[in-house]
Amino acid sequence: MSKFWSEKTKCLQPYVPGEQPKLTNLVKLNTNENPFPPSPNVLAAMQEAINDDLRLYPDPNAEKLKQTIADYYGLHKQQVFVGNGSDEVLAHAFAAFFQGKQQLLLPDISYSFYPVYCQLYGVEACYVPLNVHFAINPADYCRARAGVIFPNPNAPTGCILPMTQVEQILQANPDCVVLVDEAYIDFGGESAIRLIDDYPNLLVVQTLSKSRSLAGMRIGLAMGHTDLIEGLERVKNSFNSYPLDRVAQAAAIAAFTDDDYFRITCAKVIENRIWLVAQLQRLEFEVLSSEANFVFARHSRKEAIQIAGFLRQHGVVVRHFQQERISNFLRISVGTQEQQQRLVMVLEQMLM
Ligand code: PMP
Repeated sequence: MSKFWSEKTKCLQPYVPGEQPKLTNLVKLNTNENPFPPSPNVLAAMQEAINDDLRLYPDPNAEKLKQTIADYYGLHKQQVFVGNGSDEVLAHAFAAFFQGKQQLLLPDISYSFYPVYCQLYGVEACYVPLNVHFAINPADYCRARAGVIFPNPNAPTGCILPMTQVEQILQANPDCVVLVDEAYIDFGGESAIRLIDDYPNLLVVQTLSKSRSLAGMRIGLAMGHTDLIEGLERVKNSFNSYPLDRVAQAAAIAAFTDDDYFRITCAKVIENRIWLVAQLQRLEFEVLSSEANFVFARHSRKEAIQIAGFLRQHGVVVRHFQQERISNFLRISVGTQEQQQRLVMVLEQMLM
């Protein structure tokens, strides 16, 4: 530990991202990327942005992108915020709404970046256990003091909270922000965006990393009441006035414009998920109901850590978590049909 570090830096326990292996011939099903490439129109728009003029700073307010997103979801431009990946958007939301407060309610099993931000921004987290079916019980999320945050669908479980229950949480917390992290919403779930006009305490965060195949570009967004968006802009402008570069802004505009491609790839992911679940069940896995681009499954006899190790030895990477209640689960991203066939072949080798 360096003598130059502040006391706060010494205490940080940073998030450890899922492995990005160097070997290229692996079947990589560990970090929930989209198995399909971005739309060709996105690549063309990026090339155009490069040819245009990279000497110049990008639009600091990403006006055209915000207008494109607003039109897409039927919102006003002032209800949209964009940032460098939803991780950064979440960081700004913690700074703007939760910082220094006590009692942020969040599920005990959810996205492991939230506790890291709690530490970074001095927020006291209050972990609410998932129920026996690994689902969020909305009645447990009443009268938070700092706010509420949860992914919908949840990660790493993939379970969705129905909209009526999201609404229940919003109604129970009129005086604090309820942040719904919809990183995986486009794979079958219903977005809370339509509730924005009714609930000034709702902030919906999304990403282009999953359903729009742009994890490498780092583009995230938040949508909510103009008051909340203004709060986020305040934090952003105190941090980095150019969060999205010119190429990223062009890519994101093109991604929201090519809706056919988006719908087709999401449908393919869902179709592959259905196949994957059936195969895992055939191999005696219990698979939680998933509305995401991954599944969360445990085997009836074999330990998850052993299965993950065997898969790895045979060139297939999946995610295993140490956390107590879920240490016997594997999180497996939905892949292409070829990737999934290879996964199933290796599993058969081990389990049959
Ligand atoms: N929220 C959840 C629930 C996630 O699983 C992820 C991906 N790890 C993110 C947010 C962050 O996504 P990104 O920063 O790529 O937009």
